[in-house]
Amino acid sequence: MTLIRRNFVAGAALAGSALAAPAVVRAQSKAVFNWKMTSAYAKGAPFYMDGPGSATDLAKRIREMSDGRLNIQVFGAGELIPAFEGFDAVRAGTVEMNHANSYFWTGKTFAAQYFTAVPFGMNFQGMNGWFYDGGGLDLWNEVYEPFGMVAMPCGNTGVQMTGWFKKEINSVADLKGLKMRIPGLAGKVYANLGVDVKVLPGGEIFPALERGVIDAAEFVGPYQDRRLGLHKAAKFYYTTGWHEPATVSELLINKAAWGKLPKDLQAIVQNAAAACNVISEGWCQRNNSEAMEDLIKNQGVIARPLPDAVIKALRSETDKVLAEAVTKDPLTKKVHESYMAFKTQYDRWSEVSEEAYHIKVRG
Ligand code: CA
Repeated sequence: MTLIRRNFVAGAALAGSALAAPAVVRAQSKAVFNWKMTSAYAKGAPFYMDGPGSATDLAKRIREMSDGRLNIQVFGAGELIPAFEGFDAVRAGTVEMNHANSYFWTGKTFAAQYFTAVPFGMNFQGMNGWFYDGGGLDLWNEVYEPFGMVAMPCGNTGVQMTGWFKKEINSVADLKGLKMRIPGLAGKVYANLGVDVKVLPGGEIFPALERGVIDAAEFVGPYQDRRLGLHKAAKFYYTTGWHEPATVSELLINKAAWGKLPKDLQAIVQNAAAACNVISEGWCQRNNSEAMEDLIKNQGVIARPLPDAVIKALRSETDKVLAEAVTKDPLTKKVHESYMAFKTQYDRWSEVSEEAYHIKVRG
């Protein structure tokens, strides 16, 4: 009723033949879209599936803002499809949306890595600058154009942790032969330094680490890692995540389905995703700070950064992996150049703004 009254009032303000316009708008407004969204993460997983800014929260916000005209049913990993099959499902139109991280799709298109996290790359603020105002979002859609999909950021963990290790890492040599769960480009970097890399969905990490199937694992950060119980399977928690300085959650959408949404519903999806991008990051700041304190004080976890020499080797290997990737694919080169140009400028700014504040001013 509210909708009809609003359109009637809007129509009354118009003169003569213009009265026809609100009727068209009203007819279009009545269309209800029932969509499915899958996830790479299990039902109930904090941040990804549950809580402020999660996939479930995103669907709720869209439903409320659209007054029920866009209903998105959310499925955790394994409920409708396995964890890492979202790309193919959205591409085929089996589901309209998938909620995950684009770096799971580097086997389909390497450039997808840049839209999740680049090792030694930009933080949350820098990534948002690149996406929303530096051409990053347009490039993301250009990369997915051949697959008939569009994407946008809809969450961010902030800087992740290097991860859990059963044994201390004192030198690069300690990485050799280590079996480690780590996805994305960072996995390639570790592999070049002798690590035996495994890609496991979140739910499989703890049993693998506990049973010794793997010797080390990265997942997200203190809150989510604690929830998986990773601190019960390994005591050494290496901190600042060189590999994922601000991990972006991806909202992946079938382009044909997207094209069928009226403009107002598209705007609702875009704005709900942007809201979740910020809200989820805030959630991480609060929960990680509490969980980190608990892990150190109450759980016997030994938290420390990786030794400088190891960081240096990882950085040098990352540069090599990226340099090689850009020679193999023109689109990766294009995305790489855009990302790095933005990063160079952002780094200079950050040095005298955010970083300077933390290091020199705050005390
Ligand atoms: Ca991670």
